[in-house]
Amino acid sequence: MTDNRRNVFFFYKKDHELDGHISSLEKLATDQGFQVVKRAEDAHIIASIGGDGTFLQAVRKTNFRDDCLYVGVSKTENSHLYCDFSLEHFDKMIDAMNTEQIEVRKYPIIDVSVDSTNQFHCLNELSIRSSIIKTFVIDVYIDDFHFETFRGDGMIISTPTGSTAYNKSVNGAVVDPMLPCMQVTELASLNNNSYRTLGAPFILSSDRKLTLKVVQDGNDHPIIGLDNEALGTKHVKQIDIGLSGKVIKTVKLKDNSYWEKVKRRFL
Ligand code: NAP
Repeated sequence: MTDNRRNVFFFYKKDHELDGHISSLEKLATDQGFQVVKRAEDAHIIASIGGDGTFLQAVRKTNFRDDCLYVGVSKTENSHLYCDFSLEHFDKMIDAMNTEQIEVRKYPIIDVSVDSTNQFHCLNELSIRSSIIKTFVIDVYIDDFHFETFRGDGMIISTPTGSTAYNKSVNGAVVDPMLPCMQVTELASLNNNSYRTLGAPFILSSDRKLTLKVVQDGNDHPIIGLDNEALGTKHVKQIDIGLSGKVIKTVKLKDNSYWEKVKRRFL
């Protein structure tokens, strides 16, 4: 990385153990010609120190910037899907950046609009779940075409990189992030003579729009999850979801493909 976009911001959950490491990272980065900044808005590179959960927070708290690079640095040698580097080998990362051994990887994100007013992004997924011990009903539209009426616990709409998270726990497919798409999976759908859903995960292309209309039958205050944050339990009528025009850019070593990371994490 030889250009002059070298302002780095470190994002991490404060803990005493990490404090010492952060000072060493800051020194190492400064020695190598990077400038450590205190405000994420001033950064060209946002380095998240922690696991995937921390990376999701780093992206969310810095407003899903598409004009900077996000770098996932894990605290341990354990593999994480959003981390391409580890604290122990942080010097390797600096080296790689200085010697152009890195590539930029682009991760699709989804745009979510709740009742046409509030707009959000998700890097992993949007989840919608009944907040009470009672099924709730959603009319599912694809491009304004009524596709199915869902009755059950809820649904997950995941990005390709989110496909290895919540989506995978409900038997969704793991999707290559080079495919810009979103996957819809069910949480315990009720299937009988009155209610029928596809009963299988389905994947929508980047051009599709998904609309969820929550049936207003009293159970219409679902819990809405945006990655690892809850929007809270609120009255909801309609959620519109589509792939965003924005992407999250991360850096990776040339020999560290997404599928190598999937293998390291799961196999
Ligand atoms: P958490 O509940 O503390 O941990 C969830 C686990 O999922 C952590 O081990 C986390 O990895 C891992 N994870 C997060 N994103 C991942 C991804 N894209 N691919 C593979 N693993 C991933 O919550 P959190 O750490 O803040 O993560 C939030 C995510 O948890 C949500 O976005 C959702 O996908 C997932 N989640 C899963 C379930 C489930 O599977 N039943 C239920 C609720 C939420 P790290 O250890 O590296 O942080």
